[in-house]
Amino acid sequence: MSEMRSLLRVCSDRPVDLADIDPRSTPGLPNKKVTGADTKLWARGEVDRIGDELATQQEMLFAQATVDPRLGRSVLLVLQAMDCGGKDGAVKRVAGAMNPLGLHIKAFGPPTEEERRHDFLWRIRKALPPVGYVGVFNRSHYEDVLVVRVNELVPEDVWRPRYQEINDFERQLVDAGTTVLKVMLHISRDEQRERLTARLDDPTKHWKFNPDDLDSRARWDDYQAAYAEALTRCDSDQAPWYVIPADRKWYRDWALAHLVRETFADLKLNYPEPDYDLAAQRRRLEADG
Ligand code: ADP
Repeated sequence: MSEMRSLLRVCSDRPVDLADIDPRSTPGLPNKKVTGADTKLWARGEVDRIGDELATQQEMLFAQATVDPRLGRSVLLVLQAMDCGGKDGAVKRVAGAMNPLGLHIKAFGPPTEEERRHDFLWRIRKALPPVGYVGVFNRSHYEDVLVVRVNELVPEDVWRPRYQEINDFERQLVDAGTTVLKVMLHISRDEQRERLTARLDDPTKHWKFNPDDLDSRARWDDYQAAYAEALTRCDSDQAPWYVIPADRKWYRDWALAHLVRETFADLKLNYPEPDYDLAAQRRRLEADG
């Protein structure tokens, strides 16, 4: 199978057009004979299997940083999507496979009064994963060129320079030892309607419905254009952007699990060698009775 990263990476040598990416498509899915419910089951099983590998990788990342923080690294997964795009589900299924003690998960809502008094990256910097941790951003600094742009929360001469500021910020982050993986979960407008309807139909999901989401939905095309420009301007080899077609939840989770696994593989992680004499410590313990 070719690397999911090459299949899902945005092509930033020309402007991204999200209309070219079918949210129901399933790039990279092996041509298996199974169909329908069987495919779903198979994909869920794969996510569980890859999840075990991710847990091991995360433990190695944590162990290396514990033994030698100077050599330690961190990983940051940035997740963006339209409302109902499945960020919460993807975090639960993919990040949920890892040890919560080594995870640093942060969701970004509208900035607080204090946050508004600072530069837009201030709250982002404060939320970065410490060395040895896997950070997950559920929304991120990209909101400052998405909702902020679409709803005209600041003038264009304020939000437009942010693409460059974001690129500079992410380059510093990578130089300081963080591996950055940015993923947009791409759903269709029809799928969003179904998911919003499901929230209204199910009393256990009423709490998830936010009437403001319908205002954002009314600006769908503006959001798609804002996403396209952010993906085009802020994709780089150091901090690449990927788009996962996300109408099918099982594919979304399967693809994300692969992207995270491939990202970990680049780090060539291992359990650290002990910096003490193993045999001597064993002898001491035995002598202790
Ligand atoms: P979610 O929709 O991610 O499950 P919420 O319902 O809490 O979570 O929504 C978060 C809201 O915060 C979104 O509408 C998002 O656009 C908004 N938001 C996030 N960052 C910013 C920002 N920098 N400026 C304004 N609004 C923001």
